Amino acid sequence: SREWHLVARPHGWPTPEDFALREAAVPELGEGQVLVRNQHFSVDPYMRGRMNDVKSYVPPFQLDEPMEGGAVGEVIASRADSLAVGDHVLHGLGWREYAVVDAKRTAKVDPSLAPLTAYLGVLGMPGLTAYAGLLEVASFKEGDAVFVSGAAGAVGSQVGQIAKLKGASRVIGSAGSDEKVKLLVEEYGFDAAFNYKNGNVTQQLKEAAPEGIDVYFDNVGGDHLEAAISALNVHGRAAICGMISMYNATEPSPAPRNLAMVIGKRLRLQGLLVSDHSALQPQFVEEVSAWIRSGELQYSETKVAGIEHGVDAFLGMLRGENTGKMIVSLTEA
Ligand code: NDP
Repeated sequence: SREWHLVARPHGWPTPEDFALREAAVPELGEGQVLVRNQHFSVDPYMRGRMNDVKSYVPPFQLDEPMEGGAVGEVIASRADSLAVGDHVLHGLGWREYAVVDAKRTAKVDPSLAPLTAYLGVLGMPGLTAYAGLLEVASFKEGDAVFVSGAAGAVGSQVGQIAKLKGASRVIGSAGSDEKVKLLVEEYGFDAAFNYKNGNVTQQLKEAAPEGIDVYFDNVGGDHLEAAISALNVHGRAAICGMISMYNATEPSPAPRNLAMVIGKRLRLQGLLVSDHSALQPQFVEEVSAWIRSGELQYSETKVAGIEHGVDAFLGMLRGENTGKMIVSLTEA
């Protein structure tokens, strides 16, 4: 079985030399374990943080060990009563072709209800992040004007659409290409969108939201957060979900330089960790899968084929080569 190892800790942007695809023997199954043939695995921004040797909310990847992350696949051998050969599961041992997992640490998924990849994206961790972040952390309410950065990505594209479906007065998104901006407005129903690479973010946001915003969903940090603080109305709220503009930075960002505005506007900026919101999972799956079935919520996936391109997919995602969820597919199915 082939698996991706981290072999050096990147400083700044990771390079292909920081990783190695290695052959490893598949371990014997213990009692209560299953052998899974991975069909798809996820590459996510938070994995960049796990490449640093610092204490964080998830432990760092170990050097010369397989990396981990969300994956879906088929059970091909089982020593667990709860799972049979042929079942499909979601689990945390991605970045490899075959995984030996404790059945207790898997969730059974039904490929007849949704494509397997959906459990890594729109119905999975990024989807719950969008749903919980908007509704619980940012306390979204009908009539709010919402701005989301990283708006053409897995989390952001869902934030904007959920806000629209729940009665936002105006939804604005930012993304890194003109094609993405077009997709947001023409396909996903955003009221306005802009390409942050085309000019000053504060200025572009002001033009897109002349009456200000009530909610900011932050995926980017830095100058996007500064622009949002300027645009937020009194009693506005921000869900601080991610700061991808800083994940490969070697110097801290000077922005936001306008944090003092938080006082006069009585803003609430609240950090968000999806793992705090698992109680919302059943409600999230029910509501979002209904919107998918009715065609009210759309989603994209960018699939990269072949485990040998796993690192390319990860680096491509950091550069914005994905629209919606970035996924590495090991099979055609
Ligand atoms: P995406 O699908 O949005 O992929 C990442 C995107 O980030 C790229 O496509 C790129 O799009 C954009 N990007 C990269 N660099 C920059 C930059 N310098 N400035 C602006 N945009 C940039 O990833 P996810 O949806 O999985 O994650 C989105 C955010 O949510 C991340 O910050 C992530 O860390 C966070 N997150 C947090 C969770 C939590 O529990 N707190 C859980 C899940 C995700 P573009 O072309 O637009 O530049």
